[in-house]
Amino acid sequence: MSTSTTIVILGGTGDLAQRKLIPALYTLDVLGRLPASVSVVGFARAKLDDASYREHMWKGARELSGQPVERKAWDRFAKRLSYVRADLADPASFEALRARLKAIEDGAERADRIFYLAVSPSLFTPAIRGLGGAGLASEDTGWRRVVVEKPFGEDEASAAKLDDEVHAVFRESQVYRIDHYLGKETVQNLLVFRFANTIFEPVWNRNYVDNVQITVSETVTVGDRAGYYDGVGVIRDMVQNHLLQLLCLIAMEPPSSPDPEALRSKRVEVLEAVRRWSSEEYAKNAVAGQYDGYLEEKGVAQGSRTPTYAAMRLFIDNWRWQGVPFYLRSGKAMAGKRSEIAIHFKAPPLTLFAQPEGHVHAPNVLAMCVGPDEGFHLRFSSKVPDEGMLIEPEHMEFHYRTSYAGREIPEAYQRLLEDALTGDASLFIRGDQIKHAWSIVDPLLKRLADPASPKPEAYAAGSWGPAAADALLARDGFAWDSLCGHDD
Ligand code: NAP
Repeated sequence: MSTSTTIVILGGTGDLAQRKLIPALYTLDVLGRLPASVSVVGFARAKLDDASYREHMWKGARELSGQPVERKAWDRFAKRLSYVRADLADPASFEALRARLKAIEDGAERADRIFYLAVSPSLFTPAIRGLGGAGLASEDTGWRRVVVEKPFGEDEASAAKLDDEVHAVFRESQVYRIDHYLGKETVQNLLVFRFANTIFEPVWNRNYVDNVQITVSETVTVGDRAGYYDGVGVIRDMVQNHLLQLLCLIAMEPPSSPDPEALRSKRVEVLEAVRRWSSEEYAKNAVAGQYDGYLEEKGVAQGSRTPTYAAMRLFIDNWRWQGVPFYLRSGKAMAGKRSEIAIHFKAPPLTLFAQPEGHVHAPNVLAMCVGPDEGFHLRFSSKVPDEGMLIEPEHMEFHYRTSYAGREIPEAYQRLLEDALTGDASLFIRGDQIKHAWSIVDPLLKRLADPASPKPEAYAAGSWGPAAADALLARDGFAWDSLCGHDD
């Protein structure tokens, strides 16, 4: 049967399309993994035609993607690209899109379509309504899927409203909500690490784990994104999505099958079990920070209360994790760039080897480094030669850069686009997961927005955040301890 598959990128001239989506599709084409039946239509207002759109994307892919793009391979790939000049606010634009799709699909016995919403979140609803209004979601000639970029809503209520809009046009099984973190190779490796090895499972619980620390830190400041960032802040930008995704993968139960829904349900169960803090309880369980100089950034509102750093303590009230604190932190202008999950294990029940005064015996830590130095570190205790029973921590390490030297780690969007094409929703976010994630952070967002509550604490750019974030762990007898990038 002859099939045509069209990926319509609404917002097809934007930064995401140039930087990530088109380069990912180009790479899949070069690797021979993009079926010949796949076409791509860019949809945006810019005054372009097919030829100038291809040149625009060539330039964007070369200058923004950070990956090599070869002219000959590009020209072959670019034949798949075409452009519809259109405005989401104008129903006639969707008629023009329908005509273009008809022309592309002409002669195919089956015509499948992906609508990728690569527009600003305020345009998600007009885009969905436009697609629905023009009957483009109807599955008369093949399947229809919609990929929705992040952020999905800005709190639980707005996410629910957006969900209603989406579901008025698409069934949940047609909706692919993106958190590109899940498409990262090393994030998927967390699942393999946990569920393709037997030795970790017996210790992966409250009996052996003292605490879990999840860090996603950036060294950059908000820079020229200040105008956007100031209305968003670190909780919406990082915590509600990326950090809670990592929490789900590290804490979830093994699914009973590789079925995408089984995997998605296990992730949702984690968020369901996260103890909900009220705004008042967050006073003791979260710290917000703002780096020195943030208020002087161009585009930041005077006296802004937007946090550029957040740390929080969560508990997962289930049999596996009852009583184990999960500390999450994320910030900009930090001392190091890393995405890391560190499992801190309990100390041995008995100290057999007395250590000299002031010599701290570090407990076992298993750190999973999602980036930038992808790999795993296991810290264990070792006897220093010829120093009595003096113990020092040592590390067993696995690094992608050495174990898979010469192999490129694929871009997250490459995997996610491939999955959307094949209909594998494992690495996309289900509506109920978004809802739970918002319900966890909403009281903190409310608290931070309340002028009566304290402002975010100042911290020095290039530090590891405000002192109160250290106190959050110290109160429980712990300290932040990062193994990934310990050599930077
Ligand atoms: P962007 O650079 O501002 O691009 C927006 C796109 O929408 C452009 O193609 C723009 O083209 C088009 N557009 C705007 N108004 C339109 C209208 N009325 N009708 C039709 N098209 C319209 O934004 P972006 O950075 O690509 O981000 C897109 C989405 O991806 C956002 O939801 C963002 O949160 C998400 N995202 C982006 C990145 C990234 O790396 N950029 C990463 C993660 C998530 P015209 O002006 O020509 O119409």
